[in-house]
Formats: sequence, structure tokens, C-alpha cells
Amino acid sequence: MSRASFIDFRSVKAALSMEQVLQHYGLMDRFKRGPDSLSGPCPIHKGENPTQFRVSLSKNVWNCFSVCKRGGNSLDFIAAMEKATIHAAAVKAVEWFRLDPKPSAKVVADRDESGGHTGQGASSSVRPPVQAPPQPEGTAPNPPLKFRLDKLQRDHPYLTERGLTLETLVDFGVGYCAKGMMEGRIAIPIHNPDGQVVAYSGRHVGDAPEGTPKYKLPPGFRKSLELFNLDRAKAEPGMLIVVEGFFDAMKLHQLGHRKVVALMGSSLSSAQEALLRRHTDKHSQILVMLDGDDAGRSAATEIAARLAQLAFVRIHAFEEGQQPEHLTAEELTDILA
Ligand SMILES: [Zn+2]
Repeated sequence: MSRASFIDFRSVKAALSMEQVLQHYGLMDRFKRGPDSLSGPCPIHKGENPTQFRVSLSKNVWNCFSVCKRGGNSLDFIAAMEKATIHAAAVKAVEWFRLDPKPSAKVVADRDESGGHTGQGASSSVRPPVQAPPQPEGTAPNPPLKFRLDKLQRDHPYLTERGLTLETLVDFGVGYCAKGMMEGRIAIPIHNPDGQVVAYSGRHVGDAPEGTPKYKLPPGFRKSLELFNLDRAKAEPGMLIVVEGFFDAMKLHQLGHRKVVALMGSSLSSAQEALLRRHTDKHSQILVMLDGDDAGRSAATEIAARLAQLAFVRIHAFEEGQQPEHLTAEELTDILA
């Protein structure tokens, strides 16, 4: 990203209330105000029903329960209205609302000027909080890869030992990489929600030596922006299972439950939450099935609480040391019953 297009999305989002945005579009007179809400017809799909679109003022998020079946923050709303990317929406927002896209520098400058002559009354009312992070959240998407790793070996003992069938490996495009950037590792392609490969994750075969990561990712790739297998899981019926790892997801898929996504870790990023929001509605069911260890247990509770705002959510807690990858078909059926 060039310097000129640098935008601190988090600050723009924080500075921008949904009410301001609706005002900008001249929509406020169509909305009814509740104690903590605004509700009205959905401006995105141009609906009529006066309760289909709802804004939570305290959370500063919106939801369309009708045709769109989605929601998001103020930037997501502008992006939807303008049919633009989040980045383009942020650029517009900065312009429309005279926001400062580099809040931390601005705050320091103001302090130094000690009541100086910035004279921008309009922008000061929407200035981001002082504690805005110095690093941009960076929601520019991971670009699709321009190459594919080929000649991946599907019959590597590591894969057979993990109980994956040839069909599953072919299905996920997974195999051992003898040379190239993932040399000596199991290469696992990661797709964006549109099904484009955005990265390979390289799993070290066996225990990784000191100082070597267990999973190697390409430089610059941000896994917090993706959910492994979402591109296919989104089209499957039934309950969505959220697991931690690639192998958990592949195993559940192999056991016949194909509506499964992996966090690629034990935390749910805000971008991943937004992806799930886009692909669920209030009738959806989500099963949070993290590993049976301390990290998995504490993350499951926190993640379930967040997802409960989107869908019906259930947690499956494993015994110590257990994880989805170890399940048999019968055990999975019991859990889902
Ligand atoms: Zn709508």
C-alpha cells in the first residue's frame, strides 16, 4: 500500500457513527429512534419494511434482517451503499466527514500546538479517540496468489498417519512439498471467501526445530483476514462448526460434515467475525469446537459470546488433550445430535 493511500481503518470506523452516516445519505427521517437503536427500511436493498434494518447505537453496528441478511460497522455500510471495497469506503468517509486518517500524528500535533490554530471545528467533533492504535488495522484484502505449488506428494507418511484419505487431500489440494518455498513441509492452500488461493501454509513435518515455526506463512499474508474453508463451507447446509486448525477442519470434512471453518489459531479476529456475520443470519447455528486445552477452553467462551449476537451458538468442550481431528464419525454424530 502506498503512503498516499494509508488509512487507519480502525480510527476511521471509531470516529464515524452510523447516525452520521445515515444523515449523510439523508436517511434519518425514515428511521425511528429507540433507547439504543435506530430502525427503518433497509437503504442497501431499498426495502420497505420499517423494522428490517436496525442500528445499535451503543455498538455502532447495523443489521439488515431481510434481503441482505448481513450487517457490519459504519465502513461496511458505506461499502455496501457505494458497492465499493472497504478501502474505497474509508477514503470516501475521510473526505465526506473530514476525518484525519492518521489520528496518532494528529493528536500529538494538537498537543504541541497547545490551543493553536487548526480551526477545524467540524473535524474535531469526529476525531478518533486518543488511544487509537499506532499501527493500522490494515483491512486491505490478501491478494490472490499468481502461482500454484505443483507436484505435491499426497502419499507422504505424515498425511496418512494423520488419518487423511487421498480423496480429502486432493479435495483440499494438500500435499508434501519437496522443493520450493514450502520445501520439506506439508503445503495447505488457503482460499479467500471467493475461492481464490491467497496463501499456502507450510506445516513442518514432525516437531519443528527450535526457532522454526510449526506453520510457515508467506511474508505479508495476514491469516486474521481469512477463515480456512469458508469458501466452500458457506454453501453447505446445516450447522457451521468453528475449529482451530487446518487438520481439524479437513478431518470433519472427511467425516461428512462439510460446513466447517478453521480459525487457524484459537482467537477470532474482528475480520473473521465480520466474515461469519456476512454468512450467517439469526436462524443460523454455530458450534464452537476448539481444542481441549486451556487456550481452547477460554477462547471458546469468549468467541461463543461474540457469535451469539449473530446466530444460535453452542460450545462443545473436549476433555483435556482432545480435539476435533481425533473424532470418529460416531462421536461426531453424537455431538451434532
Ligand atoms: Zn437489506
